[in-house]
Amino acid sequence: MNFENNLAFAQRLDQADPLSSFRHDFLFPQQNGKPFIYLCGNSLGLQPKVVRKVVDEQLSSWHNLAVEGWFQGDNPWMFYHKELKKLMGPLVGASAKEVCPMNTLTVNLHLLMVSFYKPLKGRFKIIMEAGAFPSDQYAVESQVRFHGYSPEEAIIEVAPRLGEHTLRTEDVQAQIAQYGDEVALVLFGGVNYFTGQWFDMEAITKAGHAVGAIVGFDLAHAAGNVPLELHDWDIDFACWCSYKYQNSGPGGISGIFVHEKHFKDTTLNRFAGWWGYNEEQRFKMEKGFLPEIGADGWQVSCTQVMPMALYLASLQVFEKAGFVEPLRVKSIFLTSYMFYIIDQINKKLNNEQFEIITPFNENERGAQVSIIAKQKGKEIFEGLVANNVLGDWREPNVIRLSPVPLYNSFEDVFRTGELLLQITKSIV
Ligand SMILES: *Cc1c(COP(=O)(O)O)cnc(C)c1O
Repeated sequence: MNFENNLAFAQRLDQADPLSSFRHDFLFPQQNGKPFIYLCGNSLGLQPKVVRKVVDEQLSSWHNLAVEGWFQGDNPWMFYHKELKKLMGPLVGASAKEVCPMNTLTVNLHLLMVSFYKPLKGRFKIIMEAGAFPSDQYAVESQVRFHGYSPEEAIIEVAPRLGEHTLRTEDVQAQIAQYGDEVALVLFGGVNYFTGQWFDMEAITKAGHAVGAIVGFDLAHAAGNVPLELHDWDIDFACWCSYKYQNSGPGGISGIFVHEKHFKDTTLNRFAGWWGYNEEQRFKMEKGFLPEIGADGWQVSCTQVMPMALYLASLQVFEKAGFVEPLRVKSIFLTSYMFYIIDQINKKLNNEQFEIITPFNENERGAQVSIIAKQKGKEIFEGLVANNVLGDWREPNVIRLSPVPLYNSFEDVFRTGELLLQITKSIV
């Protein structure tokens, strides 16, 4: 499509957008009595309007049923997670048995590494992306040390080539092949938080399996953002947070995926707790851990009902939208429009003030556009915020803007571009 850099064109795109009404299901933050153009869903998704009611229902259950709420009421807490599993499956391309809501993301990464990072003599290396999200780096370093290895010898980071910002799949594959049977685990993000690059997860999984390694993914920036087929891609395990693209609220509950091929593996280590115990016999309270079959067997503590209620409500919004596929069509359109607008700004400024480091190829990115500002990036970013555009800033010079298909419009993208141009002209 030939894009145009004017308001009427952006509004025409919004009128033709079958998902445009979903933005009315969300609450927008305000400044000076005006709603923000919110482009920060990669960090914290907006509040679906319905959640106040959902939380209130749970408060009522707690009030009216108290401890009986575990087994009574419309949606007893004991089985509450099953409602979420039904919707989490389609969101990530897995069966309901392969997924479970529990804990928070980094905690789950640790729990899954306890099971799936099984270093042996000669095979203890972990291959990951250079510049992974810090929490993942700390988790991996500490896991490696826990097993008695040093991060320097055990962790191999695949970095972009000199002068490039994103990874080439062939380089990831080559590194995995190079270390071969020394590799115990390949652990990657699905979408990199900084550049917005969506990795070729299936190719990376194949490469890892080809050398006999386990392959896991942190899907913090991928789940609810890009279409995933975790089961069919034969990924061993994954985890994600639900508060970014899935709008489940600050510190929202995390999800895990364990491929069904691992369900019967009794050799897997676990840091067990009572809630992962076989559901039917859990309350016999007997000695000797007997895991529930499926992802549920990785649960440790009792169900977090409030965060699950928030997540369920947000998953129902996805269900109403038809899960990720329809959103993905709009998402590609939105980011493509943003690429175009940034290019127009560079042309008007007669320089290359802005460099997009997110891949131009739409199959290699999600709903995020990361932009290097060559001069005065921080001031430009602050100018956007002062003018009611909320993206996010990453040191030293990157502005991340995430047009989210559930609640952003083409007009949002156009207006952001107008402001970016004005602000830059006035201060650079
Ligand atoms: C957001 C994010 C996290 C955050 O982890 P929490 O445990 O939820 O605080 C971890 N890893 C990645 C890759 C992220 O993007």
